[in-house]
Amino acid sequence: MKITAAVLREPTGPFLLEELELEEPRDNEVLVRMVGAGLCHTDLLSREWPPETFPGPIVYGHEGSGIVESVGSSVTHVSVGDHVVLSFDSCGVCAGCGAVGPHGCYDFLPLNLMPNRPDGTSALTDADGRPVGSHFFGQSTLASHAVVSARSAVKIDSSFALERLGPLGCGVQTGAGAILNTLGVTPGASVAIYGAGSLGLSAVMAAKVAGAGQVIAVDRHRSRLDLAAKYGATDQVSGTPEEILEAVIELSGGGTDFSFDSTGVAAITRVAFEALNNTGTMSMAGVGSDDELVFDYRSLITPRTIKGVVEGNSNTAEFIPRLAQLNADGQFPFDELITTYRLADINDAERASHDGDVIKPVFLFD
Ligand SMILES: [Zn+2]
Ligand SMILES: [Zn+2]
Repeated sequence: MKITAAVLREPTGPFLLEELELEEPRDNEVLVRMVGAGLCHTDLLSREWPPETFPGPIVYGHEGSGIVESVGSSVTHVSVGDHVVLSFDSCGVCAGCGAVGPHGCYDFLPLNLMPNRPDGTSALTDADGRPVGSHFFGQSTLASHAVVSARSAVKIDSSFALERLGPLGCGVQTGAGAILNTLGVTPGASVAIYGAGSLGLSAVMAAKVAGAGQVIAVDRHRSRLDLAAKYGATDQVSGTPEEILEAVIELSGGGTDFSFDSTGVAAITRVAFEALNNTGTMSMAGVGSDDELVFDYRSLITPRTIKGVVEGNSNTAEFIPRLAQLNADGQFPFDELITTYRLADINDAERASHDGDVIKPVFLFD
């Protein structure tokens, strides 16, 4: 079928709106008509990574929401007409998937960050008949339609506002899951959240849901700290890494119980660790371009913990509907972080996001 998609042909070039040919879904795939699609930092990594790593023309997008139009013969958990949120892909059979769930998949990187199906084929061809990368995070949803891996599709109650649910598939579930799944923030606990973009603000909202007693938000931008305060941060901190360290330790009376770093800046990640109390636990997402994280050897002569997180360590089939329900109940207003666009305006959306004017762009489709 003919679809419209935002194609990236050069790593630092603009997105181009093109008509592409989309294959029918295979046995383990689902065809989804997109209703909303978020833009996430990971869709823009081609801008930062060495040009030789660019995979060639590709459709990015990994935070889709839409309606199932057809399903492959082996798909049983969704059917035509179902509302779905699309999230990351996983194999479902490896030891990692078995031990902790889809976020533990040993094939997470090839299934999600590489274009195309595991067998190397693409579901998309351009007007000249040449392949265009598909299945980014099992989906490639910066398009009117997508053929997705069935394991990416999470069924959602049709009473929810589908067009705004796409960000639950990646950025929002990462921030919220770091707090609710990875750290398991407990009622009354203190938590510091470093970075107040879409991940950090989702984490602030989730800390409120968890009943944290103190939520310290850290960011360079006053406007984002104001938002953090609106969504439940009890304290706001800005400054140099040294100033932040001192302030968080002072505000928390000796260090926080939990911390979550979403900045991807190693100097700030170090603060997130060193501003824990003696038994505190840190988690981090949004790893940036720094290759190494350095901290004082002696700071681990304590029972402190560092926990990795990917996609909020989320069991998507349960966690995404839970977040959607919390949102519908008014307890998790992540949708207020959204600015909507048409897909044709994707380059404007990227610019506004980069400049910090917009926290979470979401493209709406007719
Ligand atoms: Zn797996
Ligand atoms: Zn993402």
